[in-house]
Amino acid sequence: MGWGIGNLPYGSVVGPDGRRFAAVRFGDAVLELARVDADLFAAGGLDRFLAAGPATWSRVRAEVVDTLTADRHPLVPLADVTPVLPFAIGDYVDFFASEHHAANCGRIFRPGNTDPLSANWRHQPIGYDGRAGSVVVSGTDIARPSGQFPGDDGPIGFAPTRRLDLEAEVAFVVGPPGTRIAVAEADEHVFGVCLLNDWSARDIQAFESAPLGPFLGKSFATSLAAWITPLEALAAARTRVPQDPEPLPHLRETGAHGLRLDLAVSINGQVVARPEFGSMYWSYAQMLAHLTSNGAAVRTGDVFASGTVSGPARGQRGCLLELTWNGAEPIELGDGTSRTWLEDGDEVVVSAHAGDITLGEVAGRITRG
Ligand code: MN
Repeated sequence: MGWGIGNLPYGSVVGPDGRRFAAVRFGDAVLELARVDADLFAAGGLDRFLAAGPATWSRVRAEVVDTLTADRHPLVPLADVTPVLPFAIGDYVDFFASEHHAANCGRIFRPGNTDPLSANWRHQPIGYDGRAGSVVVSGTDIARPSGQFPGDDGPIGFAPTRRLDLEAEVAFVVGPPGTRIAVAEADEHVFGVCLLNDWSARDIQAFESAPLGPFLGKSFATSLAAWITPLEALAAARTRVPQDPEPLPHLRETGAHGLRLDLAVSINGQVVARPEFGSMYWSYAQMLAHLTSNGAAVRTGDVFASGTVSGPARGQRGCLLELTWNGAEPIELGDGTSRTWLEDGDEVVVSAHAGDITLGEVAGRITRG
């Protein structure tokens, strides 16, 4: 069923009476977490729970299972609640950890280079600091941003983006704070996993990114799924991802920090890509180790995301930039229309599962800016 006793993702919802409460999803219903631990979830979100660390995460999960198995407590139908952001978002970092995505970007933007990957790419997980304040929960409308880019006739103008894209990504939620976190210690600091859509205005991004990184082309909105799946639920999905050459000692893998997640990207209900997260080059443990390797600290509620998840096949590419080869090869939707970039009214849904564990989807509809 996908939302069974082995899954139990965490979120925060507003009930029919307008009250916000922390909840765990079970089937098509939610259990109020304050019934399991009144203190930890008193504020209605997951902040204190995230900060408490792995022993508490395991205890609460076991108590949730006991509660649901005993059937002592009433569940609230999912249809009666509205999800909100489940915790206070701290810093937001976005990586570029898919070799296939990075190589395709290299082929599109630096054609003719013998190696499509930049010289640094296999040495460390490349990333940039994103804008935490514009992270929104799944279901929030996305207003088409305006910005600067060259018009058809040459001069730079300020106009609504003509190249609005999606990026199907997997995000990781930080629990206890830390710095210089070793790869082997990552699971003491990462609570769970959720889908993320890093909306991108490619024309704005292309004009502003020389010589620094993405800025207004991405900072207008980033959508986060409403349900956070604990790493504890994904034990069977763990995998080791081989790396060649082996990175420096502080980034060397110590365990199975890859995750076999099967993603699906749909536009207006039509699946346009099926990326596989198991093929990512850098693991979440390496991303966290790299991000804190210079002494920078992570805090509870920080989110770091994988970057676009793309596989080797065309049908596994996690953004329109790759799927349409920068607009040169439109994709057909089932309704007889085609797309190079997103149009007003388009609804994008990224979903994923790992065996019988379903991840909470991340959805958003484009509105006129
Ligand atoms: Mn991204």
